[in-house]
Amino acid sequence: MSEEKKSEVARKLELLKLRFKDKATTDIGLLQSAVGRFRAGEVCASDIASVYHSLHRLAGSAGTFGYTALGEEARSLEMMVKPLIGSDDGPSDSALAPEQVRDVINPAFASRIANLDSLLSLEQDSVRPQSAASPLRVGGSPDESVVLIVDPDQDLARDLMCGLEFHGFLANVFPSMDSALANGLAGVSALIVRDELVIRERATFNAMADMPPVICVGAEDSFLGRYALAERGIDGFVCEPVDIPVLADYMARLISDHNEGHSSRVMIVDDDPELLEHYGLVLENGGMDVRRVNDPAQILTVLSEFRPDIVLMDVQMGQFSGPSLARMLRFDPEWLGLPIIFLSSEEDREFQVEALSQGGDDFLAKPVSDAFLLRAVSVHCYRARQLDKLASRDSLTGLLKHSLAKSEIQKEHARCMRLNQTSVVAMLDLDHFKQVNDRYGHRTGDIVIKGLANLLRHRLRTSDVIGRYGGEEFVVVLPDCPVEDAHRVLQSVCDHMAGIVFSGGDREFSVTLSVGLASLGDYPTSDDALEAADQALYRRKQGGRNGVTVSGDESTSVGTVS
Ligand code: GH3
Ligand code: MG
Ligand code: MG
Repeated sequence: MSEEKKSEVARKLELLKLRFKDKATTDIGLLQSAVGRFRAGEVCASDIASVYHSLHRLAGSAGTFGYTALGEEARSLEMMVKPLIGSDDGPSDSALAPEQVRDVINPAFASRIANLDSLLSLEQDSVRPQSAASPLRVGGSPDESVVLIVDPDQDLARDLMCGLEFHGFLANVFPSMDSALANGLAGVSALIVRDELVIRERATFNAMADMPPVICVGAEDSFLGRYALAERGIDGFVCEPVDIPVLADYMARLISDHNEGHSSRVMIVDDDPELLEHYGLVLENGGMDVRRVNDPAQILTVLSEFRPDIVLMDVQMGQFSGPSLARMLRFDPEWLGLPIIFLSSEEDREFQVEALSQGGDDFLAKPVSDAFLLRAVSVHCYRARQLDKLASRDSLTGLLKHSLAKSEIQKEHARCMRLNQTSVVAMLDLDHFKQVNDRYGHRTGDIVIKGLANLLRHRLRTSDVIGRYGGEEFVVVLPDCPVEDAHRVLQSVCDHMAGIVFSGGDREFSVTLSVGLASLGDYPTSDDALEAADQALYRRKQGGRNGVTVSGDESTSVGTVS
């Protein structure tokens, strides 16, 4: 996030704080007059309920805006009034015993209420720190993975650099940590560092914000050595001699995990407009995509439109209760697995367990600090996405599973027909792959499959759909892409694949790839287009493999396209 954007967010947070202060001043004034009326002997049930709700609101929000002492005092007073409230609907006039009210709203209570004003001038900045600095690490997107290799042995580093470039990484070599850091880490997706440098220079990566994943390379592998690296905040270790395809796959996974936080989608439901805006700004500032819902009646509409990773929900919103809303969302099987986190100033454990049993997943206790909110929400989003991936992604490659890939192709076909656009579907199949398994073993075969998956991720656009269709067969959809462009891109994937050197024990080998493609819009159904791409692939196999064949085009191309 740019400096300009950060100061804009800081300014908005400051404005919200002023608005909170105004509102709190009015609320405290009303509290003081209500208490004055009680002291004068006027006991009215609705006044008791509104005193309780005002204190509850202050207790839950003051800390968020930096007024910790006010929040704590309001919480303590709220607890004193709570026994007068009885049921959720509040007390009835007939049930209120005047002596019980006098016991609670005694002179000491009245003077504490009178003193709330002064707490509003005690602002603690420590509760709202780091709102402008994201504790999340920032990295590049997987299709432009820039890697820094830090190794005093420049020859080894250059070998690594050449190897990684075949897998779609753009590597830069540096002799020392200082020279690499002087280069800056903006846009860098990962660092590969010689382990001795980390140990010798006592470098520690734990405390560095905005740090991309760091992988160490070393000649020796031991438990204590690995532990020492983990202690310094390193994300991974590979032992020499480095198996480049294995390293490339490992890095691709670390980088994609690392970038997860940036696309987190969070829906916040809260009836307090200032709190809603504050939470929204804090999470957006941390790089998340946020949708704010002030009116609980809107949640179903926003859910289906926005499809968040998680929902943050207030526990009590006027006539609506968060737990009942959570239960209601679960009526729809689509939202059965959606994590719902309650923001609650309720400290009662029984209540919390009850709310969780209604369909919530966790609690964040109000007031919640900005830094804690961001951390907690990013951890929940990360977990939610991992679970989602388990269901929709192939475990070996992380690509879409067959059924999901097929439904994406159907959607794209319908879009092409509707908008009269050209999109391409392609079937890809590794050549003579059975021989790879037979000669080098199934595990090595798996590394080749992962190698192709990572290559596709790097060389295609993020908007392209990539699925693992079967064992060593892949399917790709390139939306809004003329056939000639698709041909060129996929031919370059074939060329790159052929250039990757895999190691099978003491032998090195490479694997080629055949592709058949078809224009989606030329066929009445997506299944017909897939069938046409499959036929083109078949012809490519017949015509010598290693290259691309377009459906309906008998001329095939082999080798590099200029
Ligand atoms: P062609 O060039 O005609 O495509 O020949 P091929 O040997 O690649 O084709 P074939 O379909 O006969 O063999 C595919 C092989 O892929 C057979 C199967 O054991 C292997 N395979 C399928 N899934 C996996 C997997 O997940 N891992 C590994 N290592 N091998 C797999
Ligand atoms: Mg094959
Ligand atoms: Mg096959």
